[in-house]
Amino acid sequence: MHKTTIHKIEIIPIEIALTEPFVISKGALTHARNTVVKIYNTDGTYGTGECCPYRSIHGETQTGTVAFARELAKNLLGEDPREIRKHIALMDKMIVGNASVKCAFDMALYDLVSKMDGLPLYAYLLGDKSKKIYTDNTVSLLEKEIMAEKALKFKEMGFPVLKVKLGERPAKKDVERIQAIRKTIGKDLPLRIDANQAWNYAEAKYALQAMADFNIEHCEEPIQAGNISDQRRLVVESPIPVMADETVFNHKDAALVIRESAADSFNIKLGKSGGITNAMKIAGLAQACDMYCQVGSFSESRLGITALVHFDMAWDNIIFHDLDSPLMLSEDPVIGGMEYGKDWQVTVTDDPGHGADFDPVFLQKFEMMTIK
Ligand SMILES: [Mg+2]
Repeated sequence: MHKTTIHKIEIIPIEIALTEPFVISKGALTHARNTVVKIYNTDGTYGTGECCPYRSIHGETQTGTVAFARELAKNLLGEDPREIRKHIALMDKMIVGNASVKCAFDMALYDLVSKMDGLPLYAYLLGDKSKKIYTDNTVSLLEKEIMAEKALKFKEMGFPVLKVKLGERPAKKDVERIQAIRKTIGKDLPLRIDANQAWNYAEAKYALQAMADFNIEHCEEPIQAGNISDQRRLVVESPIPVMADETVFNHKDAALVIRESAADSFNIKLGKSGGITNAMKIAGLAQACDMYCQVGSFSESRLGITALVHFDMAWDNIIFHDLDSPLMLSEDPVIGGMEYGKDWQVTVTDDPGHGADFDPVFLQKFEMMTIK
């Protein structure tokens, strides 16, 4: 095979306003300040990746991702894009953590190499396009009456399941939120809840037991991330399955949680694992242990979510799909890629790569850094 190399990388910090603030227990978000990476190959192809550094979860900022991206880009010039594992190892050698910015490069590389092979990304990942994927929609953490109103609106819009943000101490108010939602929307539509680490063991145990009969699929990250011993107790005592989110960034975290029986399932996000390479390892570990997974995101545009859907298609143990972040953005700057269909089914195209790209007119609004 004729060897081609990376000859140019563009880094573009973008900003998209949210339609309304997205509120979780860790605070409110009003704008998605994401970083776009485009990697160009000497054969004329390019790949695009996106990350959404979420300060209160990643400890990364947009400014920081751009600074590291510039440094990393210089080191990738002249390299063979196909050697993704080598490039991931380089990133990990250059800086520990920083999963968000690493995800943008990993995503751009997978887009590029699957394009080079003329394959849609799901096929490159040995995925199955016949898999049916339906997204939830998320209710922000607000006063219970407003949350019930929003839940009803989403139910009327036809979403097959709703995700509800919780996380207040005492947790009695969170139980009242779920009671109010159920009173308004009835019992049939499944809910999934997410406390984003807000409770402690006692509050979580109380809340999860009090919500046992409310048709809740699982609870994400009930207590502080990394508190493995209390998480293990909750897994035993909670009538609602416990899903690890912030506790499991990457495959090493997943291995620890499995060894310690500290969760029933994982929420995989490319922005936590550092991209597809390591997300595959989490899904594989879970599959070997017969555990279910969810895919989720931060405030990525339709481009980042498109890559996530291709990944989703490669794993039959991913049965929960939280793919609603593009619905919260005030504009859609992406051409091609995933689409929402009937009953909020999510589909992708058979275009080579992930099939999504940013509208060049949109990108022109922002400062672009070119490394070549
Ligand atoms: Mg979560």
